[in-house]
Amino acid sequence: MPRFMADHMLGKTCKWMRIIGYDTLYPECKSDTEILDKCILDDRILLTRDYEFYKRYDKSIFLDSPDFKLQLKQIAKQFPPDRKLFFSRCPLCNNLLDEVDSRLMGPEFKDVMSRFSRVKYCTHCHKYYWNGSHYDKILTEIHAVLEG
Ligand SMILES: [Zn+2]
Repeated sequence: MPRFMADHMLGKTCKWMRIIGYDTLYPECKSDTEILDKCILDDRILLTRDYEFYKRYDKSIFLDSPDFKLQLKQIAKQFPPDRKLFFSRCPLCNNLLDEVDSRLMGPEFKDVMSRFSRVKYCTHCHKYYWNGSHYDKILTEIHAVLEG
C-alpha cells in the first residue's frame, strides 16, 4: 500500500484515511515546497484540490470533489482499502496503534475495562481506542462511503 500526504485543505479526509488504514500525513504549517520535499523523501502520494500544486509533482492525485466522502471514494477506487487495516492507525497523528491490556487504562476507564480485555493505544498521543458503539457507527460510515 502506498503512503500518502494530504494537503492543508484536507484535514477531514486525512483523518478518515487514517481510520480506514492508509498511512497519511498532514502538513503542520509547512510551505508547499516543504510538503513536496517530504513527499519525495518518503515516496508519498500527494492528495490535493489545488491544481497548481498538483501539477508540481508527478506522484500526486487531484481530488475531483470538495466532499470528503467522494474524495475517499476516489482514493479507494485507485487503492482499494484493506479491511484488516481498519482502525489500525491513530486518527490524530497517523501512528500505528498498539494493542494493549485494558487494565493499563486506569480507574477512570473502569467501564471500558469491564467490557474489553484488549484496547488500542497511541504511544504518541497517549490515547486509548476501543470498539465501543462509536466504532460500529464509524464502520457503517466507512462502508457507506466506500460502497454507497
Ligand atoms: Zn496518536
